[in-house]
Amino acid sequence: MTRQGELSAAVEAVLIDEDTLGRRIAELGAEISADYRGRDLLLVGVLKGAVFFVSDLMRSIDTPCEVDFMAISSYGSATDSSGVVRILKDLDLSVEGRNVLIVEDIVDSGLTLAYLVRMLRARLPASLEVCALLTKPARRTTDVECRYVGFEIPQRFVIGYGLDFAELYRNLPYVGILRDELAAQAEELP
Ligand code: 5GP
Repeated sequence: MTRQGELSAAVEAVLIDEDTLGRRIAELGAEISADYRGRDLLLVGVLKGAVFFVSDLMRSIDTPCEVDFMAISSYGSATDSSGVVRILKDLDLSVEGRNVLIVEDIVDSGLTLAYLVRMLRARLPASLEVCALLTKPARRTTDVECRYVGFEIPQRFVIGYGLDFAELYRNLPYVGILRDELAAQAEELP
């Protein structure tokens, strides 16, 4: 099997192809540029899943902006987060008085994001909004608000374009649905 074949063998179906991702991210970038024109903007990328999204999004924003990263891990099973978040890497920059835009890969129950929003709000930014590439509205258990959303997706475990399964498949150029057999294993991972 080729290397690419090995990667795509985990994919049941392509959910969002590369072109569709690129077009939607360009639209989000244009919207964000218009909304923040004349104001400072600090993008906060959430590692590791949002790494490709934040770099493509930032390149499609045509107003001056900065970027910083946080790495977090949420307690819970691989498929169900508990909302208790451990900070693995904090921001290098202060967010006090800044217009902050959290850039997330995927919002599922919303518990992780709700925690992140509470934590950053306590640091007194001038404004705090969220841009999520993917959301699964049917799984939402919190009412955390995302100002910008790339795509609403069904309740399936997805991989690719930064999203992993057991740290693999982030390098797929599209968002794909993980095969059922592997998804069943995901539920058992710590
Ligand atoms: P939440 O706290 O919103 O339930 O979970 C959010 C986190 O769970 C995401 O940041 C991501 O790490 C993980 N997650 C949720 N759904 C998926 C999915 O379909 N695929 C992958 N790879 N990770 C997911």
